[in-house]
Amino acid sequence: MRVASLVVGLLLGAAVLAPAGAGAQTAQRVTALDARLAGDASRTRLVIDLNRKIEARAYTIADPNRVVIDLPEVSFDLPVGAGKQSRGLISAFRYGQFAQGKARIVIDLREPVRIDKTFVLAAVDDQPARLVIDLVRTDKASFLKNALVPERPQTAAPKALPKQPLDARPVIVLDPGHGGPDVGAQAKTGDEEKEVVLEVAKKLREQLLRTGRYRVVMTRDDDYFVPLDERVAIARANAAALFISIHADSLSKGTGEASGATIYTLSERASDSEAQLLADKENDSDKLAGYLSQQPDDIANILFDLAQRNTKNHSALFARTLVGSLKNAARLHKSPLRSAGFVVLKSPDVPSVLVELGYLSSPDDLKQMTSEAWREKVTVAVVEAIDKFFVGRTPAMAGR
Ligand SMILES: [Zn+2]
Repeated sequence: MRVASLVVGLLLGAAVLAPAGAGAQTAQRVTALDARLAGDASRTRLVIDLNRKIEARAYTIADPNRVVIDLPEVSFDLPVGAGKQSRGLISAFRYGQFAQGKARIVIDLREPVRIDKTFVLAAVDDQPARLVIDLVRTDKASFLKNALVPERPQTAAPKALPKQPLDARPVIVLDPGHGGPDVGAQAKTGDEEKEVVLEVAKKLREQLLRTGRYRVVMTRDDDYFVPLDERVAIARANAAALFISIHADSLSKGTGEASGATIYTLSERASDSEAQLLADKENDSDKLAGYLSQQPDDIANILFDLAQRNTKNHSALFARTLVGSLKNAARLHKSPLRSAGFVVLKSPDVPSVLVELGYLSSPDDLKQMTSEAWREKVTVAVVEAIDKFFVGRTPAMAGR
């Protein structure tokens, strides 16, 4: 009997290791298929259809008031626009990969709520399995009393490249913004910032590696959430010579037309009010994913020590170099060099810039950012700027 089960175990192991497309693997995957809201402003229900039953844990968090549902790994195959409609107590919800093997749904609330029930029904007959959460309206004080501190994702020390003492090539850290439940800006077409910027970052990695002159680390190379402070920690753990955060903005209706790329550096005081608004929006990433960051909200409190001042100078130099290279490859914003208090740019020892590639709200920009030819041209220009920045600054580049 024991031998038999061992054999079965080995066979199962082999099935899991089989190439993609093998039945065993696809059968395991949990998929969310549909979502709907029901009820009114005193009691609202969210139902998520699933291909099979899973465990779910729901809790409330405050500031802003949200409900978080933690799930095991789920792929979300929900209809376009799911989560964007409001109903009753729910103003919207987001979903996505939160950490390795973990998915999360984050519900934005119109009013304080109490979680009345959370349950998962197994599939019956032609009904799929269902995750159901019932929210009832409560008062602010009770909400705050019950609001939990969500689990932080397991952030072991950020992965650093293996030490290679002879490899003096600079490490470039590429940081595609957003990911997982935080989709970033969105175009009317449904294109999401988190996807657009990931594609550009991957292209840039490819171009940088092709030169043979750099090592490259990405803060994420797929669609999952990475907290802002971890993005900074990844740059520092890898002793990065340069950190480039990649984003694409969107203007909300009625705030005018804007287009073109902008390069941002860190400053205590924003260069202009639009830059301030953008930094606030980008710094909200952790909140959107239902992650309680230990980041002080007020970046003005950061001590700008001597090292940081030097880093600031290098960041500014790279930003100017990048504008110089990009202007031949892409349309730039009318004032392309700006600054604000972006959390992700706060490494005291790593020159850091944040590139807004363009505006998802501009049909022209969107067309470009999603075109292969544009991505090719722009990433070549970024490599050119990186080359210029490093020539004469590092031993590996000095001989060129
Ligand atoms: Zn962004």
